Amino acid sequence: MTGAAAVAAAASTSLGVDGSDSPDRRSVLLAAHAVLAAEGHDELHFGHVSWIDREAECVWLKRGDYSFSATGPDDLVCVDLNGRRLSGAGPLHSEVWLHLGIYAQRPDVASIAHSHAADLAAYSSVGPRWPVLDQYTLEMSHRLTFHDSPRLVIDAGLGSELANSLGDGRACFLRSHGALVADTSIEAAVVGIVELGRAVGIIRRARSLGDVTEMSPQEREAMLERFVARADNRIRNMWGQLMMAQTRTS
Ligand SMILES: [Zn+2]
Repeated sequence: MTGAAAVAAAASTSLGVDGSDSPDRRSVLLAAHAVLAAEGHDELHFGHVSWIDREAECVWLKRGDYSFSATGPDDLVCVDLNGRRLSGAGPLHSEVWLHLGIYAQRPDVASIAHSHAADLAAYSSVGPRWPVLDQYTLEMSHRLTFHDSPRLVIDAGLGSELANSLGDGRACFLRSHGALVADTSIEAAVVGIVELGRAVGIIRRARSLGDVTEMSPQEREAMLERFVARADNRIRNMWGQLMMAQTRTS
């Protein structure tokens, strides 16, 4: 399957089928790489997005020396829960433990998107206070966590420490490193990291224009309650738009 065909296949799939159809999920994972490239998350070969096939006890992610944009159907590797390669060619990402550590502690998580995009890496050195200025910053304020370590997550112990920092959260800034989103589907994790990147862009632009007016707690509460209640719908709509943008350019 070509990258464009994977995007087309992913565009026609529905949410909530994790683990039930591995080839289908891998086509969505491949499409996720194209989305992350298009949304500005390519930073050389850094950053990665994974999907866990819990039935097969296998975690899929790209080879370690390729960017999101360079990743094609033959560039996904599969590792077991101890980080041993089961299939695929090329070097492994040294930060595969970022994924394995979270999957070990969070059975609800099916996918993790990790980005070194410049905006996210920069913000990770400024946080952890998170201003709520707009819809993206509000949505991503929910279950947002902070990992107070700049170290790359390159072994099981560091993976476990990161998972502890994430707790039952959805998103996490890793100090002076970048950010991740862990969620119940590839679509939800990718939409989350896309929203997080856009949120930091909003913060940066707002601050460059003048004094920032943050939403009041009362304003946040009412809007966030609606966002949380409609999270599946929002993710489906946002993923649909990201897929449409891909099919228009492929
Ligand atoms: Zn990293």
